[in-house]
Amino acid sequence: MAKIFCVANQKGGVGKTTTTINLAAGMAAVGQRVLLIDLDPQGNATMGSGVDKRQLDLGIYDVLLGEASVRQAAVPSQWSDAGKKDHPIYHVLGANRELAGAEVELVNLPQREKRLKQALSLVLDSYDFVLIDCPPSLSMLTLNGLCAANGVIVPMQCEYFALEGLTDLVNTIKQVHAKLNPDLRIIGLLRVMFDPRITLQQQVSEQLKAHFGDKVFNAVIPRNVRLAESPSFGMPGVVFDPSARGSLAYLDFARELVSRAQTL
Ligand code: ATP
Ligand code: MG
Repeated sequence: MAKIFCVANQKGGVGKTTTTINLAAGMAAVGQRVLLIDLDPQGNATMGSGVDKRQLDLGIYDVLLGEASVRQAAVPSQWSDAGKKDHPIYHVLGANRELAGAEVELVNLPQREKRLKQALSLVLDSYDFVLIDCPPSLSMLTLNGLCAANGVIVPMQCEYFALEGLTDLVNTIKQVHAKLNPDLRIIGLLRVMFDPRITLQQQVSEQLKAHFGDKVFNAVIPRNVRLAESPSFGMPGVVFDPSARGSLAYLDFARELVSRAQTL
């Protein structure tokens, strides 16, 4: 049965999408069957998986509104044309700007925050992991992700305001846990874009460990330009340049999460 994880942080630009696509590719590389869901109208995870958001036939929008099933709308990640056909694929439920409209359209539908959960219940046997890339907000879309998930992965930069932003997210997760999804928990905090030469980053990293203990993942993702370049080639870094430092770190993280998931 698939484990469902949201990659969430309401702060923008903290590495949610980079984490989701590289984790999906990393898990696929270690033999897992993965479905990536792009819950962000920006469609970055879609593009970063080699799927053109402007030419989406069906996507997460259609699934949320009940107009398509997950099976009908999911497409394989696409990088075979780029000479990377040996890298295992994952499946993608894509998004584009149309998804912004779902926010409004969902309001009048029954069980509006549980639409994704219901849709996913039909495919749980087809995947080992479902990874959901959330938008930088605590919106109805994010709420659908949190209601469907077993847990949340929180990517964060080790900066001064990072801990402050975490409080809002933790409170939201507590509320969803109490009212809508008793399954939900924080799986862990992932330190991303890490630069060990910066003293402040080391200090915040130590604070995180002191405060959250083993909820902080062992894997640390360094700042690495290859991770930032690869989406423009329609690929996660793990596929584009598997030997780059950032890609190796995401592979470590994929292995760590696969083994941690067995204890959930
Ligand atoms: P949004 O909130 O807009 O959805 P996000 O949280 O999904 O943003 P990303 O899009 O993953 O964040 O990353 C923000 C920017 O930082 C991107 O340009 C990305 O390429 C870059 N980036 C992410 N992780 C790294 C890294 N480890 N090293 C270098 N650049 C990175
Ligand atoms: Mg994003």
